[in-house]
Amino acid sequence: MIRIAIQSKGRLNEDSCLLLKDAGISVDELKRKFLGKASDFPLEILYLRDDDIPEVVADGSADLGIVGYNEVAESGAEVTILRRLGFGTCRLSLAVPKTDKYDGLSYFNGKAIATSYPRVLRSFLDKNGIDASIREIRGSVEIAPAAGIADAIFDIVSSGGTLVSNGLKEVERVLESEAVLIAGPSLSEDKKPIVDNLLFRFDSVSDSRGKKYILMNLPTSSVEDAVKILPAMRSPTVMPLAMDGWCSLHSVVKESELWDKVEALKKIGAEGILVLNLDKVIA
Ligand code: ATP
Ligand code: MG
Repeated sequence: MIRIAIQSKGRLNEDSCLLLKDAGISVDELKRKFLGKASDFPLEILYLRDDDIPEVVADGSADLGIVGYNEVAESGAEVTILRRLGFGTCRLSLAVPKTDKYDGLSYFNGKAIATSYPRVLRSFLDKNGIDASIREIRGSVEIAPAAGIADAIFDIVSSGGTLVSNGLKEVERVLESEAVLIAGPSLSEDKKPIVDNLLFRFDSVSDSRGKKYILMNLPTSSVEDAVKILPAMRSPTVMPLAMDGWCSLHSVVKESELWDKVEALKKIGAEGILVLNLDKVIA
């Protein structure tokens, strides 16, 4: 049995639960209080506030954790990042009142910066030789300049909308973040195969995300061109059709590239193009 810590509620909860579900792990919803148990995998799920996850993993109370990289960096906990998970993407940035003239980092000398991430900020300022004071605030950091609590802020930014609506502008991106899968410094031998199995499943899930299965009829003479357009996992599958000179071609495409590829395929004579959802890619 291994134990994974995930956020109990908040921005990462839903995607963390979805990752487990897509990996074929079912957790009894009713038991989602503090400690849940998967019914079909040797896994316990510990639901925590995200701030607590790095420490709990570092001290071995949980074997694995899913948490924002920003929290890992801020905690300074001794954990290993096993995988980047591709959701919860955001960044930690410095922002200043939008009417201020900003001409580089020296702007911050002698200024007060409000943040919930004092450790990451301190190390950034020290590295750049900037002498600013840090005001640690737990929430609503973005209102600090308007409230006269600080001159600038260092906070999580994703779209930037919150900054704009508070009269601020992002001036320095300091740390790029996304949800990560973390592990503690020591994992007993009996747990290793279970973690490996879970990683294998997570990798299959992430390989299939954002991809579509595509099939079409194609003049056999265009197969070579189609292979150039569709570099699939190894190479596309080509099957003969009853009609002479035609074949059926199957492949996998990134959803982000789908429409460009479809256009290119039509140009070389593809017909009857079908695009299907891809459930899993097993390496
Ligand atoms: P908890 O109650 O668990 O302590 P929280 O309020 O500290 O939750 P959330 O707002 O739920 O945290 O955010 C969790 C994580 O989601 C952040 O640490 C960050 O990694 C990620 N995230 C992605 N986009 C954003 C965003 N726009 N604002 C805040 N966090 C974001
Ligand atoms: Mg938190």
